[in-house]
Amino acid sequence: MGNSKHSEDEFRALVDAMPQFVWIGGPDGNIEYYNQRWRDYARLPTGRLNGDEWSRGLHPDDMPKAMEAWQTAIQTETLYKTELRLYDDVTGAYRWFLARGAPYRDARQGTIIKWIGTLTDINEQKQVEQNLKASQEKFRVLAEAVPQMIWATQPDGYLDYWNQRYADYLQLSPEELQGYGWRLCLHPDDRASVVAIRTRSLETGDPYEVAYRLRDGRTGAYRRFLARALPVRDDAGQIIAWFGTCTDIEEQKRIEDALRQSQERAQALMDSAIIGIMIVDGETLVEANRAFLQMTGYSQEEVQSGLLKMSTLIPPEYAPHEQEVLEELTVSRQVKPYETVYICKDGRFLPIVQGGVALPHRPSQTIGFVLDNSARKELEQRKDDFLSMASHELKTPLTSLKLQTQLLGRQLAKQEVTGSVTAFARMDRQVKHLERLIGELLDVSRIQAGKLEFVQETFELDELLSDIAETLQQISTTHTIVVRGAVHTFLSGDRDRLGQVFTNLIGNAIKYSPQASTVEVEVGVCAEEITVSIRDHGIGIPREQREKIFERFYRAVTPDQKGFPGFGMGLYIVAEIVRQHNGTITVESEVGHGSTFVVTFPKSAKT
Ligand code: ADP
Repeated sequence: MGNSKHSEDEFRALVDAMPQFVWIGGPDGNIEYYNQRWRDYARLPTGRLNGDEWSRGLHPDDMPKAMEAWQTAIQTETLYKTELRLYDDVTGAYRWFLARGAPYRDARQGTIIKWIGTLTDINEQKQVEQNLKASQEKFRVLAEAVPQMIWATQPDGYLDYWNQRYADYLQLSPEELQGYGWRLCLHPDDRASVVAIRTRSLETGDPYEVAYRLRDGRTGAYRRFLARALPVRDDAGQIIAWFGTCTDIEEQKRIEDALRQSQERAQALMDSAIIGIMIVDGETLVEANRAFLQMTGYSQEEVQSGLLKMSTLIPPEYAPHEQEVLEELTVSRQVKPYETVYICKDGRFLPIVQGGVALPHRPSQTIGFVLDNSARKELEQRKDDFLSMASHELKTPLTSLKLQTQLLGRQLAKQEVTGSVTAFARMDRQVKHLERLIGELLDVSRIQAGKLEFVQETFELDELLSDIAETLQQISTTHTIVVRGAVHTFLSGDRDRLGQVFTNLIGNAIKYSPQASTVEVEVGVCAEEITVSIRDHGIGIPREQREKIFERFYRAVTPDQKGFPGFGMGLYIVAEIVRQHNGTITVESEVGHGSTFVVTFPKSAKT
């Protein structure tokens, strides 16, 4: 007994020294003994305890599973094993334990005498496990969430992990992907260099970054990727894996390429010596190409200093027009080429043609295109000089011719030579025709030179109009000239010149309406204006030519429209005379139905 007491004490001491909780239960599973460590942990009262006392500290969630395992063990007389949480009174938290229980049998009959069990604290291990699981899960979610393709290889480069995006892109099965299958998806031209870089990296252990093309398994097209790989090392510094990403840079590359291409094009345009190009920000020149600098004599430095303004380049007398140009630019984002003049660095005036476009996203910036127009201007000047010279030269013999004709006419009239009157009348008509033509040529030259002169007088408009209508009616055998209305107003201006205006307009009305029989002149007056309109029922003028007909030498009639002789000078002179009288001239027309020219003058003179 003493011996057995001794061994029982020893057993107790042993059991209490163990880091585990130890328990002993009866054959029915009712626990009879808890070791001291457990009693301390669960703060079980000393003395005899109920068989299920321990379960008070069991986590409620673990209760059903633990109880079921325990019941099964007892019924099937097999090993009991489960994981459960027990309440720690000291920290006030649950800890994980591995509970085990084994039946202890009678040596002879094999019946169960006792159950002996332990509870081993596995809390830390559990924690580590859970942390690991959580971080693995985090990695998985992250790897699937990123827009890149992610992969991992063994130290020798054998691919053993990839995210879904990678498999989806390459359209390879896990069996195909495992190992080195991805290399087959590399663009053939990239294969050798990429394999070389990787092989070197695997040897040296240095991370690498390489761009290559990978085939999109869905479309068969190659896209560009940037691949990056980093080695993962253990505590001893040994590489245990390689982690890598492939970032799709196709779009970025494409944009870069497009950008480069458009930059190249823009540069080629700028560098071309064909056309002057400048960039203007507001009023300031911020960039100019060589052609522009050569034309104007300014240097690149002067442009870059930001001190060169448009107002320095454009002569003050062109400033109002420049203002209109700016307005057009604001409204229609571009300006059609127009003629103007630059003041060059050395003060020289340079005739140019310029146009421009506003930059779509930088409304204050304009790209201007400039062409040297001096050669054309020079040619024009030469033509003008020639015209002026020729018309003067022609005028002198014509004047004497006219004089001689008049003398001859008088003599012929006295002698009454048969047939000579008609011959003379024809001659006289031709001389008058020549005279008008040369007169117009001279007028054009004078307008060009700014030398058309006007006398200032006061006259009655109604009278002027009826005089002209009468004169023209005498000549015209085809049309009736109808004058309607009267203004009873005096105009101040050049009576002859204004007479020239109406003669011309009525003359045109007759000339361009061969099928019609009337030309109507209507005079009207309102509070501020006097209006004279000349209407015909002739061929009309196409819309796009209605402005141009007032330009010098412009004719709307096509060369095959014979029977409309002319030189395109009349309306140019008319417009200038009207302008000099502060008036306006406009035209309304319908092709095939006729035209109406409307001339207005401010009602300034006395009535
Ligand atoms: P010209 O009559 O000598 O050609 P103008 O300067 O008088 O020159 O007129 C310019 C052009 O305008 C003409 O060539 C003609 O095409 C057009 N035009 C002028 N008046 C009329 C009109 N009443 N009807 C149709 N076209 C006209």
